[in-house]
Amino acid sequence: MGGALAIASAYMRCVPRHLPRHLVSIADLSRGEIAQILDRADRYWALADEPVKKLASLRGRTVINMFFENSTRTRTSFEIAAKRLSAEAVNISGSSTSTSKGETLLDTAENLEAMSPDAIVVRHSFGGAAAMLARKVRCAVINAGDGQHEHPTQALLDAATIRRAKGRIEGLEVAIVGDLAHSRVARSNILCLARLGARIRLVAPWTLIPRGIEQIGGDETRERVRIATRLEDGLDGADVVMMLRVQHERFDGEAPRFPNTRELSRTFGLSERSLGFARPDAIVMHPGPINRGVELSPQVADGPRAVILQQVSWGVAVRMAVLERAILGDLPVEGAWG
Ligand code: ASP
Repeated sequence: MGGALAIASAYMRCVPRHLPRHLVSIADLSRGEIAQILDRADRYWALADEPVKKLASLRGRTVINMFFENSTRTRTSFEIAAKRLSAEAVNISGSSTSTSKGETLLDTAENLEAMSPDAIVVRHSFGGAAAMLARKVRCAVINAGDGQHEHPTQALLDAATIRRAKGRIEGLEVAIVGDLAHSRVARSNILCLARLGARIRLVAPWTLIPRGIEQIGGDETRERVRIATRLEDGLDGADVVMMLRVQHERFDGEAPRFPNTRELSRTFGLSERSLGFARPDAIVMHPGPINRGVELSPQVADGPRAVILQQVSWGVAVRMAVLERAILGDLPVEGAWG
């Protein structure tokens, strides 16, 4: 190959054909874009029942999963999602990266980018890590959880789960219960559910409710979020009950926000009895990992109203759609949106 051609072809390899579609926050997505992702995920959900679960849309593409915090479901499902679309998936974790030798997150990412990946999926304890990378690298950046800030793909898979179980999201009453102070899952869900027209109750003792959390999405969330400091009030008439784990790893020396875990579990834990406050057909969700007997009794976690394992399955389908959108651009609109 001649010099100019070789340079041109090398250049083509490095330059994406469209601007990368980062996914840093749910606020990056319009209602229509969320609908496109969920509609595409619907198609990929069915793929799980096929004997051969592989499509070719990301053949030849490279996805780097860069996880600086522990993860079971998110990391595995991003890897499976990339592989089901025929992309090469490379996983690196915090302890195996040079950040443990003092390299900054940005240096690590820029060095990885020099190997021409199409997308970097990042989880980091620093709120803002994904946004910082998205400003610096040219490939698409997908936030797989940044500190206590956001976890957008969790909110998308939760929306997909609710939509399948309830047939709609608009007008539903969703209670989010537990450690709201440290939960990125809660923040992304508040933004996503409000954008999709649900009503949200945030249920916790005052000490676990950050001041102003109902306003994180401006008027859109202010009008749709209410706060309840008694489980009975928060669950009354709820269609969906989303339980959260106490994020002890984020307490970082701060003063205790509740007397002890047993007391919190007694007053805000979900048992068969307290689930009786919600609607009789209410579904129970949890992003995992569950602390059995703390936020959820084993009877509820394993009971007929729990859709917790469906959430995990939707994780793969939704992340396939998110990776495709990030790397290939906008997804075509398919099907009606309810
Ligand atoms: N897996 C979720 C997260 O990464 C929830 C949790 O850890 O409790 O935020």
